Amino acid sequence: MRVLVQKFGGTSVATAERRAQVAAKVSEAVRDGYSPVVVVSAIGRTGDPYATDTFINMVKTIYTDIPKRELDLLMSCGEVISGTVMVSTLQSLGFDTVLLTGGQAGIITNDCFGDARIIRVEPKNIVEHLEAGKVVVVTGFQGITEGGQVTTLGRGGSDTTASALGVALNAEAIDIYTDVEGIMTADPRIVEDAKILDMITYNEICQLAHQGAKVIHPRAVEIAMQRNIPLRIKCTFSNAPGTLVTSMQPDMGAGTDITGDRIIAGIAHTPNVTQIGVPTADVDDVLTAHKQIFKGMALADISVDFISVQPELVLYTVPDEIANKAVKILQNLGFNAVTVPSCAKVSIVGAGIAGVPGVMADMVEALSDAGVKVLQSADSHTTIWVLVDKEDMVKAVQALHRKFRLGV
Ligand code: ADP
Ligand code: MG
Repeated sequence: MRVLVQKFGGTSVATAERRAQVAAKVSEAVRDGYSPVVVVSAIGRTGDPYATDTFINMVKTIYTDIPKRELDLLMSCGEVISGTVMVSTLQSLGFDTVLLTGGQAGIITNDCFGDARIIRVEPKNIVEHLEAGKVVVVTGFQGITEGGQVTTLGRGGSDTTASALGVALNAEAIDIYTDVEGIMTADPRIVEDAKILDMITYNEICQLAHQGAKVIHPRAVEIAMQRNIPLRIKCTFSNAPGTLVTSMQPDMGAGTDITGDRIIAGIAHTPNVTQIGVPTADVDDVLTAHKQIFKGMALADISVDFISVQPELVLYTVPDEIANKAVKILQNLGFNAVTVPSCAKVSIVGAGIAGVPGVMADMVEALSDAGVKVLQSADSHTTIWVLVDKEDMVKAVQALHRKFRLGV
């Protein structure tokens, strides 16, 4: 049996016309000899009548403190509605099909409601239906605990569902269908000439996704990568080939000319972070101070980012909405924190960055020519991050996109 996982995002299932395009993709898979497993997200995006946020807002107008377990049950409904509509669409076109919830599909998670992690998949049920010749539709974004509680997987969780099923079923590929024609060199909403990439490595897209590129969830990439299952990002509304995600690095030059290799794959951005600076020059015991700062954050479950530790200064970022909480903890520990709210993290990502001199020089030059002040920077061998004022974010992304000639 040749299994193909096809995941369709919220905008792909939003209207009857679009669902007909989804059905066409499923039909092509069947025609090509695949047994398709179709993963669907809830219909539409924030504000739409059957979007998950709509349900939450509706209930929160009555009572804000909904228990997490019940909130997850509510949040799992969007995909059940979407899945039912999808199954009806496919059946009306003559497909033999069945809808399974995350739990019925064998997606077992921990009990971290709202952001549960898949711990294993028991695909027996899906396999039986596939062997009976059915197209299996699975509700994305949800699972079930060992004890039978319904859980949800956090934002972008349907991507994770698709990858987990792809691995469990040893699928030939995992196709993530969305409203753009593939992974682009930057978010097309802010860079007009962002270009579609034919190919990208798991590591590169994972970095881009972690740094804010919303096109796929980083966890989904990590799961597919473990078994080396090809991931493809494609468009529901066209026949464009999309982007292939594999472990291979694309050779952009002809033949064996390694100087032609791509250095930068793309640029990502994350707005709304606060930079926290904790001066430690005047403390009696710097080592203990450093320990206290990070222990304080960890105990409060605050995940810190962009960390820079020097003897006289500790710098890190947190999301804007938890900055006050972080500062209070620091004050209680006797530290005077200085904050710079409303910053943005801009990252350039590329497997070719390592060992290529001058990338940082080009980055700084582009930003300085655009009048963008760098508040902090860091790097790994595939990524260079800079922290800038949020007001400068779009300008910074556009300037870097131009500098590294990603649109040509
Ligand atoms: P879906 O509902 O199908 O899961 P998402 O909104 O999660 O769709 O992801 C698709 C969107 O991701 C695109 O519409 C695009 O605006 C955005 N996006 C951000 N960065 C990128 C990028 N580098 N490449 C492609 N799309 C991107
Ligand atoms: Mg998505």
